[in-house]
Amino acid sequence: MSFESLGLSSNIIRSIKKLGYLKPFPVQEQAVPVILQGKDLMGIAETGSGKTACFVMPILEKLQDADVKKNRNVQALILVPTRELAIQIDEVFRAFTDGLKREIRTMAVYGGVSINPQMKGMFGVEVLIATPGRLLDLIEHNALSISEIRHLVVDEADKMFQLGFEEEMKRLFAMMPVAKQTILFSATLNDKVAELKERLSIDPMVIEI
Ligand code: AMP
Repeated sequence: MSFESLGLSSNIIRSIKKLGYLKPFPVQEQAVPVILQGKDLMGIAETGSGKTACFVMPILEKLQDADVKKNRNVQALILVPTRELAIQIDEVFRAFTDGLKREIRTMAVYGGVSINPQMKGMFGVEVLIATPGRLLDLIEHNALSISEIRHLVVDEADKMFQLGFEEEMKRLFAMMPVAKQTILFSATLNDKVAELKERLSIDPMVIEI
């Protein structure tokens, strides 16, 4: 199977070639067409499976065609448990934003560093990768709103619970619109993750790698 046959456009394919990806990984073969269709998805996949590109490619595909003038707020929110993962995912987004039809700004925000530069850098950001606590802080400082997001990704959902982010996540979910695409990734499908899936997603496609 080729990347072209997954429904990705030439802009994205060009970035894929630059990165040296020869063909889609199994998780990408399954997840990319589903996400491109706008459906909700629950993926049980570990780091190393290629799960990041699964959501990065289709989200950018959709955003590059969106009418920016109407949307000044964050369009896609990627919730992650750690700073390292936030930085890593932002790098993957950046590797794909080069050749897009229009400029799409992405940013990673996380705790443990000063909040001021993050607040100042928020203008025009469409894809935000964030750890829950710092995201709440930024919202409380009126640095951004998540009330207009169209795509939500919760990555490493099981780790979010392990690290005790349940309450923060609940508060954040209450600030999001109901109508949005929800993509969950987790290494394991335990009770907490299953509950999250039931609560957040609508008739999701479940894939297991
Ligand atoms: P991830 O599971 O998203 O952390 O990805 C693991 C590694 O696989 C990363 O270094 C990616 O750059 C790489 N990768 C993702 N998709 C592909 C692909 N289709 N072909 C080759 N490498 C890939």
